[in-house]
This record gives sequence, C-alpha cells and structure tokens, in this order.
Amino acid sequence: MRPALLNPLFAPVRALPGIGPKTGKLFDRLLSNDGGEARVVDALFHLPQGTIDRRARPKIRDAERDAIVTLEVTVTEHRPPNGRFSKAPFRVIVEDETGDVELVFFLANHQWIERMLPLGEKRWVSGKLELWDGHLQMVHPDRVLDAAGLARLPPVEAVYGLTEGLYQRNVQRAVEGAFNILPVLPEWNDAAWLKARNFPSFADALAKVHRPQHPQDILPTQPARMRLAFDELLASQLALGLVRARMRETRGRASLGDGHIAKKIEAALPFSLTVSQRRSVDEINADLASDKAMLRLLQGDVGSGKTLVALLTMAHMVEAGRQAAMMAPTEILARQHYERLMPLAQAAGLRLGLITGRDKAGERKATLAALADGEIDILVGTHALFQESVAFRDLGLAVVDEQHRFGVHQRLALGRKGEAVDILVMTATPIPRTLVLTFFGDMDVSTLREKPAGRTPIDTRALPLDRIDEVVAGIGRAITGGGRAYWVCPLVEESENLDVAAAQDRYEVLMQFFGDKVGLIHGKMKGRDKDEAMERFQRGETQILVSTTVIEVGVDVPEASIMVIEHAERFGLAQLHQLRGRVGRGSAKSSCLLLYKTPLGEVAKARIEIMRESEDGFRIAEEDLRLRGEGEVLGTRQSGMPGFRLAQIEMHGEMLEAARDDARMIVERDPELKSPRGEALRVLLYLFGRDEAVGLIKAG
Ligand code: ADP
Ligand code: MG
Repeated sequence: MRPALLNPLFAPVRALPGIGPKTGKLFDRLLSNDGGEARVVDALFHLPQGTIDRRARPKIRDAERDAIVTLEVTVTEHRPPNGRFSKAPFRVIVEDETGDVELVFFLANHQWIERMLPLGEKRWVSGKLELWDGHLQMVHPDRVLDAAGLARLPPVEAVYGLTEGLYQRNVQRAVEGAFNILPVLPEWNDAAWLKARNFPSFADALAKVHRPQHPQDILPTQPARMRLAFDELLASQLALGLVRARMRETRGRASLGDGHIAKKIEAALPFSLTVSQRRSVDEINADLASDKAMLRLLQGDVGSGKTLVALLTMAHMVEAGRQAAMMAPTEILARQHYERLMPLAQAAGLRLGLITGRDKAGERKATLAALADGEIDILVGTHALFQESVAFRDLGLAVVDEQHRFGVHQRLALGRKGEAVDILVMTATPIPRTLVLTFFGDMDVSTLREKPAGRTPIDTRALPLDRIDEVVAGIGRAITGGGRAYWVCPLVEESENLDVAAAQDRYEVLMQFFGDKVGLIHGKMKGRDKDEAMERFQRGETQILVSTTVIEVGVDVPEASIMVIEHAERFGLAQLHQLRGRVGRGSAKSSCLLLYKTPLGEVAKARIEIMRESEDGFRIAEEDLRLRGEGEVLGTRQSGMPGFRLAQIEMHGEMLEAARDDARMIVERDPELKSPRGEALRVLLYLFGRDEAVGLIKAG
C-alpha cells in the first residue's frame, strides 16, 4: 500500500487548478511514463530545460538589444489601429527618463491593453527589446506588471519541454500547483551523506530547480539536481537490492534435468549450437541445478540466437518436472516466440501454451486450466502472464525477453508466480558492464558474443537523401525478384503524430510506384491492425513495409533483405544497429541503406562510418559510448537513461556506486525497512515507482 502521505502526488495532474480536460490530455502526453494519466508527481519530475533571466533592469538608453530586459516605464500614449478590422497592431508608447520604447500588440484585445497599460501609470514590462526601423520596440512583452506584479516576478524563470498545444505558462502553472500540495516528506537519505555532498532536502532541491534564482541553479551538476538524481538512483538500486535479497533468501530448488528433452530439440535443429550458445546453456543449467535462486542476464546481439538458449534451458526445467514461462514485451513478439518455438517443442514433446491480452474467454479458460494441471510445460505470453488468474502447477523458470525495454523491476515480479522461480532476463542491447549495474543491479551475465555461422555480411551504404530516386528504383528491382524491404521513417521531434505523418507520406509516395505491394505500420495503429500489417508482410502479400521506429523491431521476417533508414543522421548508433539487425536473417544477401540529410555533422558522420565498418553490436555499443556519452547507448532519444527521469548517466553516473553501496547496506541492516529511515525509504520507492519491490519485502 502506498503511504497515504503520497496520495496528493499521485492524483492526476488534471485535478490541479487551471487544468481542464483538453490540457489534461496534453499533459498526459507530455508527462506520463506509461501512456496513462499524468500524475502530480510527473509534473514535479518534469525538470526545466533552460531558464529566462529577467534580472536585467536597465534604463532604456542602456538596455541591451535582442536580449530579455525588464524596464520600468511610464505609459505615455495609446495608438490603436485605424478601423476596427485593421490588421495593423495596437501600439503603446512607454518611456523612462532616458528614452522611449514602442510596445507592439497584434490582434490585441483593446480593453485588455487599456486595463493593463493605463495612460500615465507606471508599469514594468519584460520581454525582448529590439531595434526596428530606427526605434526601440518590444513585440508582445512576456510580462506587463504593476508594482504588486513585479514583486511576484521570478527573477529567473524556468523553461520547460513542451508538447504541441501546451504553453510554458500551462506547465509553469501545473508545477506551481504541484508545489502547493507537496506534502512534507521524511528524509530518506543518510544525514552524513547529505552533509558531505551539500545536498538540500528533497523539497528544497525541487524548489531550487523549478524556481531558480540563477540560471545555473538548474544545471545537472548543482547539488539540487545531484540530490534528485541520487534519490532516483537510490530508489532503483534499493529496489534491485530488495529483489536480490529476496531471491537469496528464498532458498532455490535444485532443478536437475537429465537432458532427454534438450537432446531431442538439438536433434531437430538443422544446425549446431555456437560456442557461446553452448556455454550460456551450460551456465544457466548449472544455476538451475544448484539450490541457489538464479537471477541472470542473457545478452546477445540481434540474431545471436538467444531464443534457442532460452528454449534449451526451459527444456531443462521441464525435464526436472517443473514448468517454465517466457514473457515478451508485446503481443506480436509473444505470438512470434510461440510460433517459432512450436515446431521444436513438438519434435521434443514439449507442450506449449500462449496467453496474451487478446485471447478469447473460452480459450483462455482452457489454457489456464491446463496450466494449473501441469498439462502445459511452457507458457509464452505478454505481461498478461502477471495476472492474478494465471496460476502454474509448479513454475520453475521465468524467461523475460526484454528486447530493448527496461521494465525489469516489474517483470521480476514474475518470480512470485511460483516457489523459488529462477529468472533469466534476455536483452538484445549489448550493454557495457557499468550499465548492466545500472539497470539490472549485480546480476550474473551470460553473453552471446558471436553470430551463428553462415550469415552473410550486410552491405551497408550511406546515401544523401537527394538520391532517394535511385533507392526507389533499386527496391523496384528487388521486389520484382520477390525481395522484401523495410523502410523506416525517422523520429520527428517530440511528437509521435508527426512521426506518423512522415511515415504516412512516405507510404503514399511509395504506393504511387508499387501500389498495394506497400504496407504501413506505426505506433498509433490498433494492435490488431498492427498485427495484420505485420502478418501481410510476413506472408509476402506486401513487400515493402513502411514504419516508424515505434513499431516492434523484434519481429523476424527472414525474407526481408533490404533495410532503408530515412534520415539516418537522426538516429543513435544503437538504434541504427538494432534496425539493421532486422535484415540479414535469411540466406539472401542483405543490404542496409542509410539515407542522410546533408550537410552531415561530425558525430553523425562518425556514426554512419562505424555502421559501414562494423556489424559487431558490442563494438558499436562501445563506439556509441565514446561518441555520445553513455546516456544514449541504449538508443533513446532523450539524453537521460531509459526508465530514469532525473538521473543522467554521464552527469550522475559517478553516484551510482554510492547508491548501490548505500542500498546494500540498507538491505543488510534493515531488510524489512522498519527503522525510521526504512519507513522513509518506502516513501522513496513509491515516489519513484519502484514499489514492486516493496511487495517483495518479507513481512515480519
Ligand atoms: P535473437 O533472439 O538473439 O535475436 P534468434 O533467437 O531469434 O536471435 O535467432 C535468430 C535466428 O538464428 C533464428 O532463425 C534461429 O533459428 C537461428 N539460429 C539460432 N542459433 C543458431 C545456430 N547456432 N546456427 C544457425 N542458426 C541459428
Ligand atoms: Mg529474439
């Protein structure tokens, strides 16, 4: 249960004063972590991107041009436009003893102007001062204030990231509203640590950042920002620490297989395991066979054959007489796993089940009954696996296919579906060691370093966008030969709508050339429509699939041999690599075309160069790290860490170890979080949405 004192912070943002249903929706889009309703805490965690400094209060004569200034003036003249419907602006002349300035208002409400700027009165106007046609003017001052208003004017104003339709003042108001209901929270940090780092309290830190007195107050290296980042790192490390402790405590069960099912699977394979597949299977099976609970990460580049490793280890669990589950991040991927595993499962006599959010009631009931009776050996599914109604006879191993998402905290809760469940997390993102720590805590790691034999290298080329016609012609030739191509359209700024529009436009252009051979898939489509678009491409009914990057790139279509990435300069290296990994899966020679907009910046040039040189995900991850700072290794657009909102690895990574050590000490000394600090730490876990871990704390 969330501590009641946090309730105001978990109320929806739209409950704050001044936010209606329409802006409420925009706030959901801007702030929500999970696509749901934005909450008050999300507004507080939406930190400013910059500041406007209004401290300059010069005389008109001395005022800097093209800068923001706040002028103390007397209103001397109103010049309304001639005629009511004139498009000319309403001008107001103001002065001080050193000069005058024309305030310019387009399409202004005359009454408002007369009320705000009465003739002969003293006012303060703040905005950008420009020299135009020989005189000074300020077009639409940001602020028009009387003495009382001036007293309330923040000297430095926070500037926030926005979404289409929202304005600074909307966000400023929401943040202010959030401050007004911010409860007094207990201190969860160690007093000595706070003192040593000169960290303010949580509330003071938020205030410092949202109500800056100096432009530098919002910088990530300031104590206030560092404190907030540390809180977030501590919450995540503590959550991982609690999961770990719980797993260590629950004595594992030794699950020893005799190899009879795995043998049949291997016999049915048209190839043999790679060295690192074999080693990984052995490592995992050794964990399963020991009575220690397993928490292991299997990392391997796209196409390195993780699924097979998972299957063989699940088979090991089934040989030991228990069940296994495999969870995929999306519906499409869950189905794909199910279908891919089926032939091998059948060959080996393994009984597979599938559960997603879209099963028919009757089917689901039958699946659940079979599961409870132990008539299903391996259950594949989406997060629907979590649901209360899903009960195993004896779950022994949970495989979590993360692809490149990082919801690991939540997913670990799968461990609660059985007694002593071993957990294997699979990720397709090669992660440097330091980042493994960040996202997964101190997990054991198995790595698939090499690709299965027989893969032909992908021919990667870079072309300026103005040669797009050649690309279209090339695709035309390829599809007449039966080939299949992905065409990925880039991310446009912060708006998914615009992404979709870009993909839609490209789709229409390509349709003019290739008619109904072209398909389209994007994140705004309904689940069923997405599946259908994907399936038509899989079956070859469409041969060119235009998509945004928000679609599931984990889907496997071996016939696809061309990957076109438009505006490749806008993608991170890891993302380019992931996308390219969609081709080169079959026997045909594959190519990847990186279309870029000229002129290319240095970093973009280097990235494209690396893409042309290498297909090694680990090398690419390292180069990425070198080029852009660790924050972007994981292919996110923002500079932060995925799953983190306040901490940036390149700025705050140095505190990661301190957070981990602190978390370890807490878990050791106060595993039930019962001391006063422990109680405060529970608040912290909830505040940062790591509360799954609270459920893992053993009570009493
Ligand atoms: P990942 O999940 O790591 O991206 P997959 O498990 O989907 O990779 O494997 C990609 C493809 O490689 C699949 O078609 C799989 O059958 C094939 N594959 C797996 N292991 C081997 C191997 N040792 N030799 C040849 N092909 C393999
Ligand atoms: Mg896979």
